[in-house]
Amino acid sequence: MGVVVQKFGGSSVATAERIKEAARKAIRAKAAGNQVIVVVSARGDTTDDLIDMAREISENPPAREMDMLLATGEQISIALLAMAVHALGEPAISFTGPQIGIVTDSTHTKARIKKIDTTKIRAALEQGNIVIVAGFQGMDERYSITTLGRGGSDTTAVALAAAMKIDPTVKANGGKVSCEIYTDVDGVYTTDPRIVPDARKMDSISYDEMLEMASMGAGVMHSRSIEFAKKFDVPLMVRNSFSDAIGTWILPETDWMAEVPVCGAALARDEARIVLDGVPDRPGVSHQIFSAVAAVNIPVDMIAQSVGEAGKATIGFTVLRTDLSNVLAVLQPIATELGATVKGVEDVSKVSVVGVGMRTVTGVAETAFAAIAAEEINIKMITTGDIKISVLVDKNDGVKALKALHAAFRLHEPRKGAGISPGGDPVAMVFKSRPALLIDNRPPDLSVLAAKLAGMEDILVSGVTLNPEQCRVTIFDLPDRPGACSTIFTAVANAGAIVDTIVQNLTGPGRAELSFTVPRSDLTKALECTQKIVQEMDPNCRVTGDADSAVLFVFGVGMRTHTGVARTMFGALAQRNINIRMINSSEVCIGVVIDRTHGEEGLAALKAAFTMG
Ligand code: ADP
Ligand code: ASP
Ligand code: MG
Repeated sequence: MGVVVQKFGGSSVATAERIKEAARKAIRAKAAGNQVIVVVSARGDTTDDLIDMAREISENPPAREMDMLLATGEQISIALLAMAVHALGEPAISFTGPQIGIVTDSTHTKARIKKIDTTKIRAALEQGNIVIVAGFQGMDERYSITTLGRGGSDTTAVALAAAMKIDPTVKANGGKVSCEIYTDVDGVYTTDPRIVPDARKMDSISYDEMLEMASMGAGVMHSRSIEFAKKFDVPLMVRNSFSDAIGTWILPETDWMAEVPVCGAALARDEARIVLDGVPDRPGVSHQIFSAVAAVNIPVDMIAQSVGEAGKATIGFTVLRTDLSNVLAVLQPIATELGATVKGVEDVSKVSVVGVGMRTVTGVAETAFAAIAAEEINIKMITTGDIKISVLVDKNDGVKALKALHAAFRLHEPRKGAGISPGGDPVAMVFKSRPALLIDNRPPDLSVLAAKLAGMEDILVSGVTLNPEQCRVTIFDLPDRPGACSTIFTAVANAGAIVDTIVQNLTGPGRAELSFTVPRSDLTKALECTQKIVQEMDPNCRVTGDADSAVLFVFGVGMRTHTGVARTMFGALAQRNINIRMINSSEVCIGVVIDRTHGEEGLAALKAAFTMG
């Protein structure tokens, strides 16, 4: 007998009629021969209303009490849904997160799941119940109620599916576990269809792409839910609770997914930029800064560290605007100690394009910058990752930049996996190529599975590599105006150089610094053409090339949001006195450019730090 986990979001339980419809969907899945677990969110805008209520009492309510309050929203939904199932003549039982054994850490308002005990769920299912679980919540080891962060019900649903999937009894029964995320749109679109009306619904998207899209602002899924799905190989379908239409499969990556460079675009409106100026350019400084931010569990993005001049560097990065004041409070004393200054800049938006095809297709960056330049939008920062490019723009330009990128990559047109079938059943096709993981014909290794369950949301670092062949080109004092990047990368591409990592940072009023890496064999041509083109733009620009660099990469899932990964990485390098020249980070990979002579030593340090032998 299969297990189906269905999750209904806030709008899907907003009215009595919607709750009855959710009950009907659950009963239908049971009638089809499945055991059914339903995870629900708070109704409609309940969570926002609860937050407003707290603010009426206090500007800065204790996080523990905030969780106590927020968790009530989901409790209303589970009781009503259980009543609706009963009214339709089926047995159902509701549980809160703590009741069902969802144990989290104690990071109130953004707790992480540590383990899930499936005993109680299994017993309730075996008695024939539809089991209804409150999303978004758990309990720490001190019995305090915790919540998982906004949008966290997706994570509850996928974590339950993962826990059921590796539950020995479910496995012994040959149980197949699937997870359906019911929401108010037909599936995952190439970008938010409310912002870009010609966005196209995707038929399927890979875990890595969805992880990056969600982390870059696509609010349709909670990014941490995708981490679980990937770690435990749970296929997910995002679909509309208002219809029976087939939605979007979120699945392991397969060949045809890489045929297009960009699968989607996302906008994060609520960003803030932090600028640290006059930072000493020496080993250990990045570690000091980012470990302080990581220690308060704040994920950072778009880290751009400008090359040190006269021993001083500028470090810029972005955080969510809601985290800005906390980050400034943490960094102020460190900046003072380093003789640097720190400030926060609001009113910025981050626009990103994502696609696994970017690993192999060239020209993505030029197309992106050209599209933004054509709209005369100024780019404040740029960072690239393994499968994404992000640009930071003025908040007022965010939507325009998103639309420009969506059109430039022709995301409104059908393509494989988004309107054109790659052929066959996508789930069967994807899992056929990796049978050991889902279909699991092998006897389950219970010790490995148990270890996985005990550290459900632990960091998963899957590899560390060194690329000694990447060289860096840097342009100092680039005029900060629309079109500069587009002109440069078009010229570099025309010269035949393949650009990998790109980082741009604002270094002073009206001036930017732009660095990028190219393979060693392309360095001379990249340097020559960059020198030529920037001279035409502004004779004050200077261009340098370092042939002595190498890049170290750490791969895994949740590399950015698990703030400890960057901390461990930078810490391991700082300990060996290895200076970090450039950083690029994404959910699936963090890369740092270092001095080539330290390449092997850095690799060994990272392998040891991530215990990879
Ligand atoms: P729920 O309450 O069901 O969890 P959410 O509001 O969290 O629903 O997520 C659904 C919303 O996500 C959609 O209404 C849509 O506006 C937004 N969204 C953002 N990016 C995307 C995208 N790429 N595809 C689909 N929806 C998106
Ligand atoms: N109710 C919570 C929120 O609004 C969790 C969720 O809906 O996923 O963020
Ligand atoms: Mg949601």
